Formats: sequence, structure tokens, C-alpha cells
Amino acid sequence: MVKENCGVVGIFSLSGTNVVPMAIDALRALQHRGQEAWGIAIPNKTPLKKLGLVSAASSEFKKISEEYKSSSVIGHVRYSTMGRSSLENAQPLKVKDLCVAHNGTIANVQELSNLVGGCSFTPQNASDTLVAAQRLVSLISENGQMGKALSILKNEMIGSYCFTFISDDNSVYAARDPKGFRPMVLGHKESDDTFIVASESSAISAVGAKLQRDVSPGELIRLSKNGLETERFSDDATRAHCSFEFTYFAHPSSKMEGTNIYVSRKRIGQFLAKKFPIPDADLVIPVPDSARPAALGYAQELGVSFDEGLLKDRYSKKGPLRSFIEPHQTDRVEINRWIIPIREIIDGRHVVVIDDSLVRGTSSKAIIKALRRAGARKISMLITYPQINFPCYAGIDFPSQQELATYTNGKDMTPDEITEMVRRDIGADFLGYNDAENLANAVGIPKDSMCFTCSSGNYDSLGVTPDFKSREEIKGEAS
Ligand code: SF4
Repeated sequence: MVKENCGVVGIFSLSGTNVVPMAIDALRALQHRGQEAWGIAIPNKTPLKKLGLVSAASSEFKKISEEYKSSSVIGHVRYSTMGRSSLENAQPLKVKDLCVAHNGTIANVQELSNLVGGCSFTPQNASDTLVAAQRLVSLISENGQMGKALSILKNEMIGSYCFTFISDDNSVYAARDPKGFRPMVLGHKESDDTFIVASESSAISAVGAKLQRDVSPGELIRLSKNGLETERFSDDATRAHCSFEFTYFAHPSSKMEGTNIYVSRKRIGQFLAKKFPIPDADLVIPVPDSARPAALGYAQELGVSFDEGLLKDRYSKKGPLRSFIEPHQTDRVEINRWIIPIREIIDGRHVVVIDDSLVRGTSSKAIIKALRRAGARKISMLITYPQINFPCYAGIDFPSQQELATYTNGKDMTPDEITEMVRRDIGADFLGYNDAENLANAVGIPKDSMCFTCSSGNYDSLGVTPDFKSREEIKGEAS
């Protein structure tokens, strides 16, 4: 199955400005949410889709902006759980006269496909986005309105979703799932009276627009020649904002649920310092890049030196990319090879290394090995995200338990025993995880309004406890 997290954007200009260059800039500002493929769609034209980074097509931007000239557009950057990064799976997807871009995961795609006449879903041949879009289009034709169709679809669909849509009648829509798992914001550019909805405010800043507000969970926004219209397709008041966005996924410049991500991460570091005040630390270093503000916050709180002991080699082919969201293990290892320790900073010191999360352990193991090679006397590793013990069915790529560093293979173990098992595996002298309470307090959002399912195993916010599957089954690669 193709599952999407990704970044989405939707733009409509009331002054008739060609907004395709803006969409390209917005997608570049969302690149950290997906590095595998990108695309745009305008009314009455087949979507344009390309593999790789947006910047890789920079020589074609002028041509694309002329060929796809439009005052309305949606766009997408893709990050999947599937190894095959084919163009066919890139978005936006087109179903009849509706193009769709999706950030999230539809957890019950198999069941949903049974509601779609003539849709023979198999994990190999369709994405959750395509199934949801097909069902939505049939509900729109039965009910006449997007809002009504979504209010039915939300009861049939389990999972997380932020959608942008564009229809051939030149309307842009944006919808955020009722629990607000994935982020979505609204902005406006006054100079050419242009509205923009996007996964993150980094995209809104990139086009020179002003952030207006978060799109409310359960809200449907329509942008058309009538301006901005809004309605609710769900009255669910419970929230499950993905806590992982705050430690890893989102861009540090972005503002989410009223909180700036950089400031949140720095505060998470301060809170982590209170939980784990490592007494004989010589130095605090971040794992680049997401953990940098937390490491700074930790160091400042305890009055310990902060330094950049690990650098990403930005001149290598894979170095500047983010390793966690790479779909292939070999690519993840390749990226970690280009995190380089600075011996002159590390040698002979007790290093506290701060990372944003420990999922598979791949990066941590490689980093600790590199720090030992650079002469570290002692290595304490602190993780700003709580222990990840369960798969995510709401849009982040850790779908199977087996691949998690905390996997106990059926053995009954306490969280402390699991931490000790992981510590030994990655080779650190000390390993400490943040906890959900601490993280929520640092971010400033009530804990029960955030999703911590991957840590707690409580799938209540999703509404079902999924049957855990292997990565191969989920990706449709099982024989
Ligand atoms: S399970 Fe974890 S990664 Fe997935 S949405 Fe919830 S907090 Fe985010």
C-alpha cells in the first residue's frame, strides 16, 4: 500500500495572478515533509508530477509556470512508506474532474475500497489517497456538495488526512481531519489578494503571505471567485495533534497550533534537562538538524557548553537529506555516513548527544560509533521524543513493530528494560527518553489533545486498534 504523509498546498488568487510560481516556492518550503516526488495540478489539465526534489527541476520552473499558468493551483511533496518511488504514485491524483493532494494515512483503505464501485484495490495497485478520492467523487455526485460528501466520508474513513482539492470549475478546497492529526494552516497575501492553505506556515512565509490561522480540525475551506468560504464537516471536539511533528517532522520556522516549532523544541530541551541533568557532562551536541534547538535548550538550562560536534556534509549527494523519511534502509545508512564528527570537539569528553527520536536505531548506532571513533570518553544519549513502541497508522512511516528498536519479539519487558536493551544495542553509556507529559508541557498543548499512540499503544484517537502487519504486507511486497 502506498501511504502518504507529505506536504500539501492550495492557492487561489482573487486578482487573477498566476500562482504556479508561488506553488513551486511553497513546495520547496515543504520539502522537509517529502523528498521523493512532487507535483502540481490546475483546473482542466493533467497534473504535472516529477520524481525527486523540487529544486532538481529548477531549470524548468519558467517553462512550467508558463505552461501551467493559472490563478488556482494545488501541490504536493511526497513521502511514502513504499520503496517504489514511482511517478504513478506521486500526487496530485486526478479522479474525474477533481485533483487531490493528501497528507496522512487512511488506515482502513481495504474496507473503503469495498465502497467504491469498480475499484479493485490491492496494496500493489492503488494508494489510500486514490481510494479516498474515488469514494469522495462518488459521494459528491450522489450528494452534490463537497461538505456533505466529506461529512459522510469521515464516518467511513479511519486515519489522518489533510487534503487539498482542485476542481475543473476552478475551486480550491482544503480539509483537515476531525482530530487534527496532521497540521494545516491558512494564509493571505494582500498585495495580490491571494489565499494559501498549506501543511505548514513555512510555505506561507515562502510566498510572502501572512499566516492567518490554523485550519480547524473538521473544517472545509473553499477558495473561489467568491473568496474564502468555510464550513464544518465534523463537530468532533477531541483532538490528537501528532506530537512527532513538534520534535521531528515540522520545519523549525513553522507555527503550529499557535506555537513556533523552534521555540517548542528549545523548551523541550529545557524540560529534558530537568528530567535528566547529567552531572559530569563536558559538552552537549545535537544530532543535526532537528535536535539542534533542543540541545541548545538543554545546554542553556544546565549551563553546560553547547557545540556542533556532528556536522552534516552538505556537499555529498545524500548528506543534506533527512534520513528518517528515506524509504530505503540503504539510503538511510548512506545519509548517516555523511554525518561527520569533529574530533577536536569530541576527543576525551563526556558528550551528551541529543536526538529528536529513536525509531529504528539506525542513526543512533552509526552516530555513537562515529563519536567513539572521534575519541568520546563517555556518551549519554537523550531523546526528545518518548520511547516509540508501536506502529503509527496516522501518517508517519513506522508501520511495523518489528522494525522498531524497541521491538521485544513477544518478551514481556518493562519500559526501563526496553530502554536498557536499546542502550546496549546502540552502544551508548546512558540512554534517556523524554516522556509524553514533559513533551506536552514544553509544547504548551494539553497532553490529551495530542497523539502519543506510537509511544503508549493507545489507539483510541484513531477509533480502532489496527492489526499490526509487517512492513512487507503494508507495502504490498509480501509474496
Ligand atoms: S502515532 Fe505517533 S507519529 Fe503517528 S500520529 Fe500519533 S504521535 Fe504522530
